[in-house]
Amino acid sequence: MCGICVPHCPTFGLTQNEADGPRGRISLALGLSSGQLAADATVVDHLDRCLSCLACESVCPSRVAYGSLMDHLRTALAAGDFTADMTTQRTPDTTTVDEAALPKAARRIWTALRNRVLSRRRMMGRLGSLLRILQRLGLGGALRTLGGPWGRALPRQLPKRFHPAAHRPATHKTNETGRSARRVGLFIGCTGEALNSDAVRAGIRVLQALGHIVEIPEGQACCGAMHQHGGDLATATRLRAENRQVFSDPDLTAIVVIGTACTAELQREPQAAPVVEITDYLANLPDADWPPLNPLAIRAGIHLPCSQTRVLKQPGSTERLLRRIPDLTPVPLATNDRCCGAAGMHVLMYPDQAEALRAPKLEEIERLKPDCVVSANIGCATHLAAGLGVAVRHPVELIARALA
Ligand code: SF4
Ligand code: SF4
Repeated sequence: MCGICVPHCPTFGLTQNEADGPRGRISLALGLSSGQLAADATVVDHLDRCLSCLACESVCPSRVAYGSLMDHLRTALAAGDFTADMTTQRTPDTTTVDEAALPKAARRIWTALRNRVLSRRRMMGRLGSLLRILQRLGLGGALRTLGGPWGRALPRQLPKRFHPAAHRPATHKTNETGRSARRVGLFIGCTGEALNSDAVRAGIRVLQALGHIVEIPEGQACCGAMHQHGGDLATATRLRAENRQVFSDPDLTAIVVIGTACTAELQREPQAAPVVEITDYLANLPDADWPPLNPLAIRAGIHLPCSQTRVLKQPGSTERLLRRIPDLTPVPLATNDRCCGAAGMHVLMYPDQAEALRAPKLEEIERLKPDCVVSANIGCATHLAAGLGVAVRHPVELIARALA
């Protein structure tokens, strides 16, 4: 109840409404669990607008486990666990049938979209290919206009699809400096075939140039982050178990992940090998492992995802990695302490909020005028790119360019 977290909350910053901040949401959770509040449209909206960015948890002196509280609360809401107890209710329940039905219907639609499309890599790959064809036919602008806020969230240019089945692990046993090869499993995530395929190709190239044997298990599943934070803890747990099985090869020295949010999710439970995001993995490789990199005389704006700074706690990895490239100037954004608003499915569920939270970052980037912007999380990268009109790259893509 101290309120120290409140000014750090991006959604409170937008509305200045206590119910849109962490302390208010905890009070709403208490009201729901005690039966004094009904899970009506207003209450659910205040709770659902939370980004799970953990800015609050990271400053809380009492170490309130806010993120875990919110994951469990959303799961209980999805299960319909909360019914107002009319005997203890302090204020009259004015919820009408329609008000209660609306969030339930919307929840069903978002759950179906998450389970049937967004968490399925091949489906996302097919959709990406379709969108790419439409863009080539010159229909990209129309899609963006006619799709309203969801159209505006679409990337302006989609990279070529990546097919994991076509990947053949290189069998060389040393890198360019003569060091022995390490065998790593590469986790590419649901966006690895479509939205994030350039980063995946760059990651493979860099790892192989550094003497790694890169395995990409075909059966890898979604990391479960959208389920974990969206009210389906059981599915999130099942998906992590599936991935544990798929990456159980005892010869793997690491499970390297392209993307900070997926890494944070897979790290919830022990895997057969350490789970590491590729940015941090490469940043920590010793100098002796690296071949010389070509200079890139550019200024790279660095966006830091909340999953990288507050969950993985690796705020310096991107800059340390990019400093390996001669002549490159890293420019960390001053707005890195605030969530960009993408936050998994939030960018689709609450596009108004997502655009408002992104605006200060776009202004900063416009002012700094870097030659490119990097982000180690595809959700943030896509959200920023949609507003900037230029691609936002994963840091490993710049390393791949410097290897060329
Ligand atoms: S997780 Fe982020 S958006 Fe949610 S209450 Fe905490 S600071 Fe606010
Ligand atoms: S969550 Fe922590 S920082 Fe926020 S009001 Fe409660 S005790 Fe204070």
